[in-house]
Amino acid sequence: MVAALQRDHDVRVLNTLKFAIDLQQGSPDLYYRQKALNAYDAVLPRIGASITYYGTAVVRQFQEMDVFCANTAHGIINSRDKLRSLQILSRHHIGIPRTTFVRDKKDVIPAIERVGGAPVVIKLIEGTQGIGVLLAETMQAAESIIELLQSQKQNVLVQKFVAESKGKDIRAFVVGDRVVAAMRRVAQGQEFRSNVHRGGVAEAVELDDVYKETAVRSAQILGLRVAGVDMLEGATGPQIMEVNSSPGLEGIETCTGLDVAGAVIDYISAQVDFPEIDIRQRLTVSKGYGVSEIYVPDGSDFVGMTIKESNLAEKDINVLTLYREIAGQVVQPGERVQFDLPTARLYTHTPLNMPVEIIHGRYVGPVLLICAAIHGDELNGVEVIRRMRSFRSLNRLHGTLILIPVVNLFGFIHQSRYLPDRRDLNRSFPGSERGSIASRVAHVFFDNIVKRCTHIIDLHTAAVNRDNLPQIRAALDEPGVPEMAMGFSIPVIINSGLIENSLRCEAGKLGIPIITYEAGEALRLNERAIVTGVRGIVSVMRSLKMLPSRRIQTVRAEPYIARSSKWVRASMDGMFRPLVQLGARVRKGASLGVISAPFSSQEEVLQAEADGIIICVNNLPLVNEGEALFHIARFEAARAVESEIANHESNIEDDRLYEIETVPVPDIDIVESSDQPS
Ligand SMILES: [Zn+2]
Repeated sequence: MVAALQRDHDVRVLNTLKFAIDLQQGSPDLYYRQKALNAYDAVLPRIGASITYYGTAVVRQFQEMDVFCANTAHGIINSRDKLRSLQILSRHHIGIPRTTFVRDKKDVIPAIERVGGAPVVIKLIEGTQGIGVLLAETMQAAESIIELLQSQKQNVLVQKFVAESKGKDIRAFVVGDRVVAAMRRVAQGQEFRSNVHRGGVAEAVELDDVYKETAVRSAQILGLRVAGVDMLEGATGPQIMEVNSSPGLEGIETCTGLDVAGAVIDYISAQVDFPEIDIRQRLTVSKGYGVSEIYVPDGSDFVGMTIKESNLAEKDINVLTLYREIAGQVVQPGERVQFDLPTARLYTHTPLNMPVEIIHGRYVGPVLLICAAIHGDELNGVEVIRRMRSFRSLNRLHGTLILIPVVNLFGFIHQSRYLPDRRDLNRSFPGSERGSIASRVAHVFFDNIVKRCTHIIDLHTAAVNRDNLPQIRAALDEPGVPEMAMGFSIPVIINSGLIENSLRCEAGKLGIPIITYEAGEALRLNERAIVTGVRGIVSVMRSLKMLPSRRIQTVRAEPYIARSSKWVRASMDGMFRPLVQLGARVRKGASLGVISAPFSSQEEVLQAEADGIIICVNNLPLVNEGEALFHIARFEAARAVESEIANHESNIEDDRLYEIETVPVPDIDIVESSDQPS
């Protein structure tokens, strides 16, 4: 309920027993507390075991009225009856404990023998939460328990006791076609039933693929989209105990810390809303060959359209999206994958690959690209991304994060800005398949990565021998850009024009909001620039709702947008000594530095041509006349900007939180690079 409200849905809890079901030809109807029911987009059935019959009838009525039901009546009925669900599952390649069902007294002993003899577990067919589950240690005990229960008109199942999992089981919470959370429950003391309701203790657990697949397939086979799947850890793998159609949320959320309710609501709204982003998400979810089910509600524009007519292809929504096309990879929600994207070859025929890491969050959200070293010698961004990737909070990522620490690998190796054709990669977009090497690298990067993103942060530094004050460059007139620029929350934003064929310009033409973070100098690591970058990206991701906004306080600064900026150039050849520092506020006419002729007393003082803040300085003392030495940005409130910069710097110095927040990155799939992408 809270999860739904947080997402701005109108939501109500309706008492199943207060419904009246009306039937007449052609118009099924529902009344609630004697009033005709309002229109609902979706229903999440939560039906107590004691009212299965009536509850499923109400759900069926919703279905007949074309309201999306997260679990169908059919699925709920299948799962409620333990015999029935095991009968259905037994036809598939799903592990289940050997089970037998008998009515005749004479069949009891042979049946127990068939499942391997005592001890056996005896279950009531419709029991829940461990009620009606008994362990019989001996044959005699089993026989008398069964006799007693049958005399009470109870139907019972006899199951092989999976000794190796004694007192433990796994609860996997399935939503759609994935497991969103899982826990292991351990019984206490003599108790062999591990249900939390029976005093079991739970711990979060990361399931391997076999367990995940078993859980998801069991739910799917029974026709459930939201299910709690209970499994035993048998010697031969997972053994399904029970699939629950109204699984409890509280226990598993407390135990795993995951937002399970949120995942359920996101799933339902993705099914119901049917916006384009969700189609995209839906179609990237399924691995390998499979059928992706999309719910098209009444009144949707898509009703009656062919796929071709929908123009989805023109909107760049393909069934095999991003991950498929890059290296035959589909990255499932909750997965991270690293691989090399082949871009071109060197004249040695050595492949020139681009390392890519894709982190697909568990929840729906934007696709954010963070890339660095488009200029191969600009290293701060490489380190920013290296730190980013081990953030613990990426476990709760909404959407997809694509990390490319080095776009221009050739330049990185050669400590150079350029590629072997001496081209600037950042003037080569969108690139071409038939151009020279820079153009080809640009093309592969642009086509496979950039076009698939919804947002981009591009990391740069100043050129060799120049130092940039941490700053955001962005075209603030473009939609979505100001939010990202402000979201970075650093003091200086330059509303800078777009240079044709730069990444910023070409991605912008596709309507993708993109900002550039500039900080520090080429071929150097600058801790302040790095920490500011990491903090800024986290802050943007929070503003895009890709990361939860609570827990850790970011260092935030008030951003100021520069009105204009201007370079101050060397007035003569010689040796240059700066008199002001990066981030300093200068007034028109102030002395910025001194240039002296090396072998005479000739000297000139360089003066500021306008008020402003120094956002870039030249570090190399050897200068020629006309060379750019200082970049000065002009602000309405230069004094405020200066103090904000000083504040931000001292906050960053104090800020060591990023060290606490990071964890070693777990094993990730390294995918061997394949041939050129088609
Ligand atoms: Zn650059």
